[in-house]
Amino acid sequence: MKAMVLKKTSLIEQKPLELVELPIPIPDSKQILVKVSACGVCHTELDEIEGRVSPSIFPIVLGHEIIGKVESLGPGTSKFKQGNRVGIAWINWACGRCPFCLKGEENLCDAAKWTGKDTDGGYAQYTVVSEDFAYPIPERFSDLEAAPLLCAGVVGYRALRLAGVEDGKVLGLYGFGASAHIIIQVAKYKYPNGKVFVFTRPKQKEHQNLARKLGADWIGATGDIPPEKLNCAIDFTPVGVPVREALKNLEKGGRVVINAIRKTTPIPELDYTEHLWYEKEVKSVANVTRRDAQEFLPLAAEIPIVPETQEFKLEQANEVLILLKEGKIRGAGVLRIAE
Ligand SMILES: [Zn+2]
Ligand SMILES: [Zn+2]
Repeated sequence: MKAMVLKKTSLIEQKPLELVELPIPIPDSKQILVKVSACGVCHTELDEIEGRVSPSIFPIVLGHEIIGKVESLGPGTSKFKQGNRVGIAWINWACGRCPFCLKGEENLCDAAKWTGKDTDGGYAQYTVVSEDFAYPIPERFSDLEAAPLLCAGVVGYRALRLAGVEDGKVLGLYGFGASAHIIIQVAKYKYPNGKVFVFTRPKQKEHQNLARKLGADWIGATGDIPPEKLNCAIDFTPVGVPVREALKNLEKGGRVVINAIRKTTPIPELDYTEHLWYEKEVKSVANVTRRDAQEFLPLAAEIPIVPETQEFKLEQANEVLILLKEGKIRGAGVLRIAE
């Protein structure tokens, strides 16, 4: 099979992903073999490639927003049939026995494996996964549309839940890429009387236009003062400054949720009185659980979410990631791998 592999960490500008031929993986006990049709491109791949989140094996096939069809079944499987369409997300496996797993917090499991980091992912024609960590995909989405739901959507949904949004309140979104453009649609559906304020990089017209189209109530640049205080905010950006900016604009008792696995620049020093006093909170979002995916995918179909995607070929993975780093993807970038 064709696959784009990463052999060692490197800056993305050096185009480190290489197109190679690999043997088609064989599904182990309880695993399914999936013929990949589309794989979304996530900012976490940049963190893996550039060494901020190092893969545990090299060479590795990245990619954790995978849509495909079940090609064959390993021994002891019972959940899917050959030909079923499935999705695979960032969580690839968790132990099921540790205190975190027993509390439903498998996203914090020490033994957990992450797709495209600890096991080969979706930048390839085939991949294998435990059937317990694959999800049926609602029919209304095409393969290309469904791919970004698996991480941008599912992790964003987790962030929205952790932000503690209530109807009628003001939600701030810092950064307006793959995840935020999905989550504004969830917020508008679940909290119809609330307001959503969007902050982008200065002069990021494409992102601002998309935010306007999707119903943002106010749009500005990070650093701008919005017309009302934010009751809660989600920071989707890869940099540190928006965390301080969000805290500055937060209403008393509000919460800022940081939806990023790593930051490429530090969070600036906080002033206790200005940024934290009055019971303001900061919380990170770490990974996802299967429950997040199982709740979000049917909700995405009910709303229905309309993902904005830009299609690329598998061989273009390096170029897409460079565009992503430069903030030049409108919506979500998706690799089309097979029809
Ligand atoms: Zn991701
Ligand atoms: Zn565990």
